[in-house]
Amino acid sequence: MKIFLASGNRHKQKEMQEILPHCEILIPADAGLDFNPEETGTTFYENALIKARALYSLVRKPVIADDSGLCVEALGNEPGIYTSRYAGPRFMHGYPDGTKMPQEQQNQCLIQQLNQTGSQNRKCFYVCAMVLLIDEHRFYVAQETFEGELIDDIKKQAGTGGFGYDPIVWLPKYKKTVAEISAEEKNRISHRGKAARAISEILKKLDS
Ligand code: IMP
Repeated sequence: MKIFLASGNRHKQKEMQEILPHCEILIPADAGLDFNPEETGTTFYENALIKARALYSLVRKPVIADDSGLCVEALGNEPGIYTSRYAGPRFMHGYPDGTKMPQEQQNQCLIQQLNQTGSQNRKCFYVCAMVLLIDEHRFYVAQETFEGELIDDIKKQAGTGGFGYDPIVWLPKYKKTVAEISAEEKNRISHRGKAARAISEILKKLDS
């Protein structure tokens, strides 16, 4: 079954393809579609539904959309839904001109923000809300988390796997950052992996 994923992110496409091997995961760019809906929701789940509905209106076939981000407990769970465009407290929701701070600077910036609070609590968690939209009237949602700790110095970043904030998210149980564990292990324990497997179970039932 071909399923469109409402994303422009090839890393997410690859992760989803690994988790849903019985489906062919396409992103809008694979069909030459220009897809950039405004994420006006106030929660991960609302934004995922906005993306799913926007893509469904273009392809008129079942779609999967996710919205994810990193929440830092001592920062009041920010940057949360603004993770992708986060550029520090002045630009919590991104730069006004829409440009993006390079990822390594974003990582450094987030560590600095937490360090400045003086808090001993370095706990953070990724969130992923995933929507499977069958048609205008039928949809399913799964939301999952993946817990870790933010390292205290950008010089300690490690690993080349994953993407985004993975080199600065430490997993105490593994004594490794998320970027240092294998793709298979990340899929097994990650927010996106867990949400995608829940969605996959629903897909299997719909298929049979
Ligand atoms: P989205 O594309 O709107 O869902 O934005 C998610 C943002 O959160 C990404 O740009 C990443 O910065 C971050 N993010 C979400 N999931 C992960 C992950 O598994 N690893 C690293 N960063 C992630």
